[in-house]
Amino acid sequence: NHSVDQVSLQAHELLTKFYHHIFSHAKEAETARNYINDRGLTDETIEQFQIGFAPDSNEITTQFLEKKAFNLQELVSSNVLARSDQNQIYDRMRGRIVFPIRNHLAKTVGFAGRSITNLEPKYLNSPESALFQKGKMLFNFDLARSEMKKSGQAILFEGYMDVFSAYQAGIKNVIASLGTSVTEHQAALIRRYVDTVVICFDGDDAGINATFKVAKLLKKVGCQVRVATIPDQLDPDAFIKKYGGKRFKEEVIEASSTYMGFIINFHKRQFNLKVEADQIAYMRLIVEEIAQLKSALDRDRYVREIAKMFDLSPGAILEDVDQIRKKQG
Ligand code: ATP
Ligand code: MN
Ligand code: MN
Ligand code: MN
Repeated sequence: NHSVDQVSLQAHELLTKFYHHIFSHAKEAETARNYINDRGLTDETIEQFQIGFAPDSNEITTQFLEKKAFNLQELVSSNVLARSDQNQIYDRMRGRIVFPIRNHLAKTVGFAGRSITNLEPKYLNSPESALFQKGKMLFNFDLARSEMKKSGQAILFEGYMDVFSAYQAGIKNVIASLGTSVTEHQAALIRRYVDTVVICFDGDDAGINATFKVAKLLKKVGCQVRVATIPDQLDPDAFIKKYGGKRFKEEVIEASSTYMGFIINFHKRQFNLKVEADQIAYMRLIVEEIAQLKSALDRDRYVREIAKMFDLSPGAILEDVDQIRKKQG
């Protein structure tokens, strides 16, 4: 619905300014400011991303919107505001640091609220709405787009803070999903702008499993996939904070492994390669993957690598690979 969307856009724009103003000036946002400073974000980055703070109150945000002549019921319908079990209309971001989420036209269409108390969840995102379809958007896409196009490459992160840190360090082709797993729609959107995607997720189990899924998805839409591994259990933001953007570029992004390099290691984790049956199952998976490679040179390279790993003849493995390719036509 057009006019409902217009009202929602206006509310988001005003709220972005409101939260940012409070973050920058209010006494009650002092903890929030200190938190963001401690995390290493500069004033320029705070301005660029319009980082804000939602007053920890049941009324301040709603009163502000009422004064601006918004109909609060309507804002509940469009999911800008929330309604409690006690039927009270409130700001679900209250007491949180607020990161505006912009669409491809640089309009705020949602918020991510970072808790800085013990309040769970750590991140609270605006719910889906007509304007904010999480599976169809990418965080920071509006700012990253030109750099993605120019470099032919995108760096895909898990988190908002990763995007802020990298962007601040001058690495601008950086995007993230919106607290949900990456969809095929998002993969296709990325593919429209770049050939190569460097997946740079957190190094925990969740991150590695998500990397596998995203890598498959990006391959499916025709991207060249690379996978970055971050040392010392750090996430991208923490690495950049500790070692700087230059080292991040050189030691993480440029040192990222190829898709097959990642796959070979990923599947190793699922098997006990000292056990014969596991070895065979593992080999099958890898041979399947090698068969999907378009370049004969690439296939040859990984066939040799696998042959060496198990002390087998490359010829036999290549035969299996070719058989799979023939079946697939
Ligand atoms: P920080 O550095 O502030 O702790 P992070 O980005 O490193 O944040 P992660 O726990 O690594 O946080 O999560 C990665 C991303 O997943 C977040 O940026 C956010 O988009 C999403 N996320 C994390 N926790 C939640 C949650 N509880 N609810 C919804 N989304 C979440
Ligand atoms: Mn400002
Ligand atoms: Mn993280
Ligand atoms: Mn982090």
